Amino acid sequence: MAIKVGFIGLGAMGAPLAKNLQTKGFDLNVFDLDAAKIEMLTALGARRATSVAEAARGADVVITILPATAHVEAVVLGAEGVLANIDPGAVLMEMSTIDAKATDKVAAACAAQGIGFVDSPVGRLVLHAERGESLFMVGANAAEFEKVLPLLNAMGNAIHHCGGPGMGSRAKVVNNFTLLSIAQIVAEALTLGTKLGLSVETMRALNAGTTATNGQFQTLMVNKVLKGDIEPGFTIDLAFKDMGLALNAAAEQRIGLPVGAAALAVYGAARAGKYAAKDYSALLAYACGLAGIETPHL
Ligand code: NAD
Repeated sequence: MAIKVGFIGLGAMGAPLAKNLQTKGFDLNVFDLDAAKIEMLTALGARRATSVAEAARGADVVITILPATAHVEAVVLGAEGVLANIDPGAVLMEMSTIDAKATDKVAAACAAQGIGFVDSPVGRLVLHAERGESLFMVGANAAEFEKVLPLLNAMGNAIHHCGGPGMGSRAKVVNNFTLLSIAQIVAEALTLGTKLGLSVETMRALNAGTTATNGQFQTLMVNKVLKGDIEPGFTIDLAFKDMGLALNAAAEQRIGLPVGAAALAVYGAARAGKYAAKDYSALLAYACGLAGIETPHL
């Protein structure tokens, strides 16, 4: 019998992940605060839940993929939340990018109730999720890892078991710190090069042919802002949240992260204006705006 999945959070990342599960034979019961997002999944045959509680009840695995820590705590730990309604023997797979300490809190609440817990934040972009080519950073004990593996294989093609519960969240914060900092370096470099009169085609080729090459230029920006598309994707708001998670974790470890602190400040400034809900590749448009030049396009 098909594995029953309660899927909560059908946003930019949740929707394509859920679509892959639904089209690959899992039995989905989906919920989001936004009814229009539920329609996208029911059109593919998923069942519609009218609340978090209804999505959780009767599921073998409950998946949550929500914006930030506060949303996850409310949805999982709240009075009408997942843990108040999940079946004994089920597993909660939490896929949001949140503070690792919040992940630990949710994992402990699950353990206290005898519910299995997996944290499995998502790597790569929405375009990869749509193709079923996501990467997952998984924190789980062996038994729970085996239970969720068929779902992860349906949604992605790179599964990294990083350790026990909570280690997926820690891996995700470190990796996003890396890529979000590089994205800002690329935005600065392209702005400088454009101002100096270099074409974006030349800069793309040189970047690809040297050790400067990176996915933020060659995969992210080439497919988004350099095509004139700054709709999310992954928003500047969420990127600011993730840089904050890294800087907070570093502060707790007495590590400074000076380059990261500068990048965090740029995300903070960019989200104060019109770019908050735009794709994070719009860092380039923001930098070009400050420099008083047009954003280059391919
Ligand atoms: P999003 O804002 O597009 O989607 C979040 C969804 O959660 C929305 O549809 C919203 O209506 C829903 N939601 C919020 N509160 C809810 C509640 N109480 N009950 C039910 N639904 C609720 O965000 P996203 O881009 O899909 O990101 C989700 C998570 O995945 C974030 O933690 C983000 O950092 C992470 N992530 C995103 C990407 C990306 O490229 N978008 C990549 C990797 C990781």
